[in-house]
Amino acid sequence: EKREAPAACTIFRSKLPDIPIPNHLSLHSYCFEHVPQFPDRPCLISDSTGKSFSFSDAQLLSRKVAAGLHNLGIRRGDVVMTLLQNCPEFAFSFMGASMIGAVTTTANPFYTPSEIFKQFAASRTKLVITQSLYVDKLRDHADGDGPTLGKDFVVVTVDDPPEGCVHFSVLSEANEEEAPEVEIHPDDPVALPFSSGTTGLPKGVILTHRNLITSIAQQVDGENPNLHLRAEDVMLCVLPLFHIYSLNSVLLCSLRAGAGVLLMHKFEIGTLLQLIERHRVSVAAVVPPLVLALAKNPLVEKFDLSSIRMVLSGAAPLGKELELALQTRLPGAILGQGYGMTEAGPVLSMCLGFAKQPFPTKSGSCGTVVRNAELKVIDPETGSSLGYNQPGEICIRGQQIMKGYLNDPEATSITIDTDGWLHTGDIGYVDDDDEIFIVDRVKEIIKFKGFQVPPAELEALLVSHPSIADAAVVPQKDEVAGEVPVAFVVRSNGFELTEEAVKEFIAKQVVFYKKLHKVHFVHAIPKSPSGKILRKDLRAKLATAAPIS
Ligand code: AMP
Repeated sequence: EKREAPAACTIFRSKLPDIPIPNHLSLHSYCFEHVPQFPDRPCLISDSTGKSFSFSDAQLLSRKVAAGLHNLGIRRGDVVMTLLQNCPEFAFSFMGASMIGAVTTTANPFYTPSEIFKQFAASRTKLVITQSLYVDKLRDHADGDGPTLGKDFVVVTVDDPPEGCVHFSVLSEANEEEAPEVEIHPDDPVALPFSSGTTGLPKGVILTHRNLITSIAQQVDGENPNLHLRAEDVMLCVLPLFHIYSLNSVLLCSLRAGAGVLLMHKFEIGTLLQLIERHRVSVAAVVPPLVLALAKNPLVEKFDLSSIRMVLSGAAPLGKELELALQTRLPGAILGQGYGMTEAGPVLSMCLGFAKQPFPTKSGSCGTVVRNAELKVIDPETGSSLGYNQPGEICIRGQQIMKGYLNDPEATSITIDTDGWLHTGDIGYVDDDDEIFIVDRVKEIIKFKGFQVPPAELEALLVSHPSIADAAVVPQKDEVAGEVPVAFVVRSNGFELTEEAVKEFIAKQVVFYKKLHKVHFVHAIPKSPSGKILRKDLRAKLATAAPIS
């Protein structure tokens, strides 16, 4: 049956005027463009070593790493994997790779060997930059006929290198003059984070130089006083840099804007508060569980947090009560939400933040769409465009959205339509003041504290168990994590299987946030005639079940 073409289309835009965006540049030239204005200002501060690098240090070290990577055989288009906690070397590696036209795929160091290997294989990684702590995970995955560390790929460690690895000084002490001049096209990939998007397994998200420059410019470029970052800011970088939210909105935006970045390698509330006080952090990028900690932890009262003028929360919905609780704790700060999705570069909308005027945002709102972009809301069934205050699927268009999924044209065409609109799988509406509110999600993804849990990945693991005939994984609401994954499992005929056994089977194969919190044994998984899991039905079943202890 032919769908009727949508009549008129309501397109929502930023309240701020569009700006010229120099997205013909390469990402590193753009990010380091203003360094001559503030060469000596602290750029990266490491919590673990206490070491600080100025902007000119950061630029020079990135150039050295570029030369070092080239010396190790990395060429334009090759993929380098970072498997790191937050540290200055992350920044030098990412920028250095960009300088020689290489692509960085950012992996979670807490991943299990098999999770790392999937990303490693899909991205065709040639070199891994990591910490000695994680090297065994790279050896584990080399079992059987897999690629061998030191032979098929190079491993560089930022600390003492274990056998078969080289030390980061091979990169950071290379002669920057030896970095080749590589011609970079704006549509060359530069970052390759992984995301499962609206459906299926994690896929490589190709973000080009043009995409990232556009996204950064949309957030921090121009003279407008309502942007969230300015040169004298110190920004908290506690969110993991392997996620595009932290990489883009914290690290890259700060490099561009001239703000200092306080790098925390892991979250611990006492240390976090001490560091905020000591370094006079002015902007904190957080996720809702961190807002909870800042709003509720009694330790907060013991520290002077008056330097914070803006708290930006993203990656998952933030409850109104929590927002108010934090506002009471930090009366001098503006609390704003950003709304992002890896495939969208990632920022779709954010609160305009310096002054409470002229654009104060309402509680629960994710701000307004970024500049130089178009946003529309569509009826998820018919695809027709909806107007103000009508909830539907949010779509975004602009030069910041991904080029596509790596080697997956089918998934790309499901996500980006022929008119260039990226379909988010999020349900939301735009109110009379152009503010965006996210109310639901139609895509499969589960978000545990802002981390992605792809149900398809857990379902594939579950059905690989000999006693499991079929399985489905859906989110259940959780006060602390936002959502947790729970499974519906059909036992194979005649097999005994306990909930604990299923949980353990999954737990040993996945990173902590993908662990199952509950297993319900059922006789069948509800499916549509075409065989699709009816997730809505399962979610509805959970909504009426008792809370998970
Ligand atoms: P990721 O690609 O990991 O950044 O996940 C993107 C998804 O996280 C979005 O499509 C939303 O479902 C969710 N998300 C991100 N920011 C927000 C927000 N401020 N409010 C509600 N959901 C959000």
